[in-house]
Amino acid sequence: MELTFLCPNCGVVNHVQSLEAAGRGACSKCRVGRSLHCELVEDGQLRACPWCATTDLYVQKDFPQGLGLFIVIVGFVISTIFWYLVMPLFTYLVLLASALVDMVLYYRVPDVTICYRCLSQIRGAGSNPENRFHPFDLAVGERYRQERLRIEELRKRGGNVEPSSSPLSSPP
Ligand SMILES: [Zn+2]
Ligand SMILES: [Zn+2]
Repeated sequence: MELTFLCPNCGVVNHVQSLEAAGRGACSKCRVGRSLHCELVEDGQLRACPWCATTDLYVQKDFPQGLGLFIVIVGFVISTIFWYLVMPLFTYLVLLASALVDMVLYYRVPDVTICYRCLSQIRGAGSNPENRFHPFDLAVGERYRQERLRIEELRKRGGNVEPSSSPLSSPP
């Protein structure tokens, strides 16, 4: 499984190609790192976030942001040109085609599992075993967002805090 995590120290996005093999995640910029919770991957199946051990995870389509919208807009622009040229059949065909491309892409792209707490992303086989994790829940997401805001606020005041259930990061 592949892990993408945000460095808790400097906020840089980092990747671990195989979290089972790596055992440890370290920031490419500031070198702050921590041991990954590899024990949370049992028989190649993800149980909880390997970065912060939170069991609240959600799944979403691993769709590049804005790509779906881009396809719709391009389809709309092209169909408008055909409409202007008084070619209604092509207008409808283009609209239909862009909707189809969108749909096919949506069903073909794999899911990505994301941690509510630390926003780490986990990709690959076993990242959502037996559909254990569900799509984003607004109530749960809001709870963790508030927690992040509080931590950010405390950090600004000079405190060094991490979520209570999350192990402290230590320099290597
Ligand atoms: Zn860093
Ligand atoms: Zn996490």
